[in-house]
Amino acid sequence: MNCILQAVQHRIGVAAWQAGRDASQITLLAVSKTVSASRVRELALQGQRDFGENYVQEALDKIARLQDLPLIWHFIGPIQRNKTTAIATHFDWVHSIDRFVVAQRLSEARPLTQGPLNICVQVKLEAEPSKSGVSPEGLPELAAQIARLPNLRLRGLMTIPRASMEWMQQRAQFAALRRLFEALQVQFETAGQADLHAGNVQLDTLSMGMSADLEAAIMEGSTCVRVGSALFGKRI
Ligand SMILES: *Cc1c(COP(=O)(O)O)cnc(C)c1O
Repeated sequence: MNCILQAVQHRIGVAAWQAGRDASQITLLAVSKTVSASRVRELALQGQRDFGENYVQEALDKIARLQDLPLIWHFIGPIQRNKTTAIATHFDWVHSIDRFVVAQRLSEARPLTQGPLNICVQVKLEAEPSKSGVSPEGLPELAAQIARLPNLRLRGLMTIPRASMEWMQQRAQFAALRRLFEALQVQFETAGQADLHAGNVQLDTLSMGMSADLEAAIMEGSTCVRVGSALFGKRI
């Protein structure tokens, strides 16, 4: 029996309790980049269902080897245009949308039989040129454009904040994403039906928090923590 999965679930449970939240509202997304298919299988057999991947080729290989398991695959890495068909076909979620062209290509490539692809828009909270993500200023328009695409379902926001060991700094960054999320909910509550493709906006997901800062993220309302090294060990 692997107690690492239980330890991470326990961290989520304690953080949820401290935040006065129901832990069942928080999804543990196991980030399995660089991890072998057999280790993913091991964790899946202990009940872990959601897995996140950053590199398309590596992910496709794992997804194929694990097809016998009922797993939910999330793409969380940078998206190259020539990989959009593979992503739209083999994943259930994409957390790293920051440009309309990429969203449009995913929508076009999504097989109709699979239903809408779940989307989180990645937000860059600070202007760091090396990082991906839409700026807070660009978010309302990008979200409105995505909402008109037929084969995507807009679920929420994702961020990778500047790494910080400071609890209050971690909280402040996650709080900033939560406020953008709340503003987006208001934007769509007041939008006319003509502005949306019917049924494809369901704003219920705040994808934030990783191994080092999941407690602060849960305190600020995270519904999906993306955990790699705390489950699989340090990546080399
Ligand atoms: C690698 C990665 C994670 C997991 O990070 P850890 O610190 O190992 O938990 C989460 N989100 C994204 C987007 C990542 O690329």
